[in-house]
Amino acid sequence: MSALIVIDVQNDFCPGGALAVPEGDLIVPGINALMVKADAVVLTQDWHPADHSSFASQHDSQEPYGLIEMPYGPQVLWPDHCVIGSDGAAFHRDLDTDRAEMVIRKGFRRSIDSYSAFFENDHKTPTGLEGYLRTRGISTLTMVGLATDFCVAYSAIDAAKLGFDVTVRLDLCRAIDLNGSLDTARQDMAQAGVTLG
Ligand SMILES: [Zn+2]
Repeated sequence: MSALIVIDVQNDFCPGGALAVPEGDLIVPGINALMVKADAVVLTQDWHPADHSSFASQHDSQEPYGLIEMPYGPQVLWPDHCVIGSDGAAFHRDLDTDRAEMVIRKGFRRSIDSYSAFFENDHKTPTGLEGYLRTRGISTLTMVGLATDFCVAYSAIDAAKLGFDVTVRLDLCRAIDLNGSLDTARQDMAQAGVTLG
């Protein structure tokens, strides 16, 4: 059985949002069309407390998009985004969320970010999604969403490492592309055995 995993199609990642990904909203109709054909649909939702440690605003003399060292490794600092319960954290209004059987929220612990839908940024703390998919007998995943070079790539690489058969539909993703991060993400995904469609 297969599942469509829709990563972070939220207002703050769309044009006009706090961490807008160029053209982030343009993928919504294509994702809705794919949902109709999917055996199962899972949505992920970036979901941060207002004082989350990935926000540049929480660090003295740091600007958004800078890099700092956290106890779990390097971390890009972001503008405040996807604050729990805010409009920015809501799904894009045109996304057909009624199709989803599971919504997995991530990044809700103040001290650690979670790009991947499977593990937090320490690459160890599970979100629970692996267990959900396995207990439903799902072994094949198609991933779409935002942003290609961060949450989609991290999720796809983790899924491949866990043994899932993973395809990323690049036409239904959009990237932030910070200092060449899109090229790196594509190479890393291909190397991990992710099919780029
Ligand atoms: Zn975030």
